[in-house]
Amino acid sequence: MMPSIYPWQQAAWRTYQQQVQQKRIPHAILLTGVAGLGKHDLAVYMAASRLCSEANDAQPCGQCHSCQLLAADTHPDHQLIAPEEGSLIIKVDQIRALKEKQNLTSNVSRWKTIIISPADTLNTNAYNSLLKMLEEPQQNTLIILVTSAPTKLPITVRSRCQQQYISAPDQEQALAWLASQQPKQQASHQELLTLTLGAPLATMALVETAWLDNSTQLKKDFFALLTGRADPTVLSKSWKDRDLKLIFRQLQHWTNSMLQTHYTATESTQSSAIPFSPAFCWAISDCILRTITLLSTQTKLNNSLLLEDFMVSIMHQTYQQPK
Ligand SMILES: [Zn+2]
Repeated sequence: MMPSIYPWQQAAWRTYQQQVQQKRIPHAILLTGVAGLGKHDLAVYMAASRLCSEANDAQPCGQCHSCQLLAADTHPDHQLIAPEEGSLIIKVDQIRALKEKQNLTSNVSRWKTIIISPADTLNTNAYNSLLKMLEEPQQNTLIILVTSAPTKLPITVRSRCQQQYISAPDQEQALAWLASQQPKQQASHQELLTLTLGAPLATMALVETAWLDNSTQLKKDFFALLTGRADPTVLSKSWKDRDLKLIFRQLQHWTNSMLQTHYTATESTQSSAIPFSPAFCWAISDCILRTITLLSTQTKLNNSLLLEDFMVSIMHQTYQQPK
C-alpha cells in the first residue's frame, strides 16, 4: 500500500516539494527525528514521488504501473537496504551490491531511488563504501537515509546529505491524532507519549503491546532497587535483552512523577506520599539520565555492563539515604 503523509510531516514534505518545483532535489537526504514518527513511510513517499510517471506537484499518483510496482516492493529502480534477517547491521556486501545495480540503467522510471534504513546500523566498511557513493552522485538518483540516531553516523556521511529533521507534533495534535486512531485507549496516550518522546506511531505500538499493564513488574523491580531489596545481577539479566531506551524513559517518568508529587503536595500529604526525599529522587534522576545519554550516543554498548553500572550507582545513593 502506498503510504501517505502524516500531519506532523507536512513541513518536511513541503520543503521537499519546493525542491522538486525548483529542480533542486538533493542527491542524498538524511531523514532524522525520534523513533515512531513514520520517517520510513515518508522516505517511501519521497521515493514514490520520483518514480511515479504521473506525479502531480511531486505527489505520487498511487495508480500508475510504477506506483503499483513500488507498492508491491518489486520496482526494479528502487532499492531498500536494511539489515538482513537475523542481523542487526547493514553489511558492506549489501552496499557493494547496491553500487553494482546503480551502474545499470533504470528500467521503468526516469529516476532511481535508494532507501537505507535504519542508516545507523552500517558497519565501518559499509560506511566507507557508502561514502564513496555519496561523493560521486549519479544523475536522477535519490538516496534517502533514515535514522533516529544521526550522531551514530560518521560526520563525513552526514555532511554529504541534506538533513531533514522531522519533529514530533505538539502534545495537543498528537493526542487528537491518537484519539482518532485508538478512541478506546485515550486514557493511556498521554503517559505513553512521554515515554516515546511525543512520537504518535510509537505510542500506538505501545498501546498495542499493553505496555502500561505489563510494566507492573518493572515498577516493582525499580522500587525494590531504590529500597536496596533487589539483586542487581538478577535484575540486569532480566532487563538486558529488552528495549532499554524505553525502560529507562519509564523509570525517568516514575522518578519525575515522584518529584512532581513532592513539589505539588500540600503540607499534610507531603511526608506520607513519597517514601524518598527530593534530594534522593534528583540523584536517581541523574543516574537514569546518564544511562539514557549513553544509550543514545554510544554505538558499541555492553548492556549487561551498562545495567550493572546503573544499579551500582543507584545502590550507592540508597546506602547514603538517611534512615
Ligand atoms: Zn504513479
